[in-house]
Amino acid sequence: MRGVAVRYGPSTALDGVDLTVRAGERVAVVGASGAGKSTLLAVANGTVAASSGSVRVLGADPAALRGRELRRLRARVGTVHQHLQLVGPLRVVHNVNAGRLGSWSGPRAAWSLLHPQGVAEVAEALDRVGLAGRLHERTDRLSGGQQQRVALARLLVQRPELVLADEPASALDPALADTALTLLAGLAGERGGALLACLHDPALALRHCDRVVGLVGGRVVLDAPAGTLTVAG
Ligand code: ADP
Ligand code: ADP
Repeated sequence: MRGVAVRYGPSTALDGVDLTVRAGERVAVVGASGAGKSTLLAVANGTVAASSGSVRVLGADPAALRGRELRRLRARVGTVHQHLQLVGPLRVVHNVNAGRLGSWSGPRAAWSLLHPQGVAEVAEALDRVGLAGRLHERTDRLSGGQQQRVALARLLVQRPELVLADEPASALDPALADTALTLLAGLAGERGGALLACLHDPALALRHCDRVVGLVGGRVVLDAPAGTLTVAG
């Protein structure tokens, strides 16, 4: 992002943001409520267009793409939301398998066809998030934290090059939050991809990310390697 501003009528959500996230980097975005964190991710996602400035995500401007080009980009970008976009009445295996189509296709992807190799891949992803053997349970019978892990397994199946995560650990207890962040950071690290994650908890940011970007009033006021920072008591 170069000089990105987002204005909602008279109010400014982002104000002259310069941000480059390189392959393999794990970047945490921190800031108070209303600082512009979600807007920053939505701009990277192409769901909010910049009012001014320029945006490039994996070489393209997501807000300028349409149709097949947009779907192709979105298959390479994984998103984790507070709204998990799982289809509750369907079995876990279907929701995780939806990752094969990329998060762009939304909940509808959960109805896509399964084949044996797909099932094996789903089983392996569920193992990695600590839900081994839960393939055939109804998704809405799982707890909130377990459903969040189903969404993570879907991401493992998707294998995105860039992960955009908006408070991915907010519904998890501290141990699970660490597990989730380890998975997300691993997705970035092991495949040379990148992670951009809004995190409520600065300690999580320091433990799992390489770099911390701080927002105040839509402006970047901090951009530093995680190793140079400590959490104030
Ligand atoms: P954060 O994620 O850090 O809480 P947001 O990106 O959600 O911050 O919001 C940044 C600012 O933009 C806030 O002042 C918020 O009220 C405003 N904002 C966000 N989305 C909208 C919208 N759709 N319409 C109007 N104002 C919005
Ligand atoms: P929020 O974080 O409030 O859920 P977003 O702006 O991130 O909102 O997403 C809005 C909608 O865009 C979502 O409901 C989802 O269906 C769709 N969407 C989000 N991320 C992606 C993505 N990477 N590719 C395609 N569609 C997406």
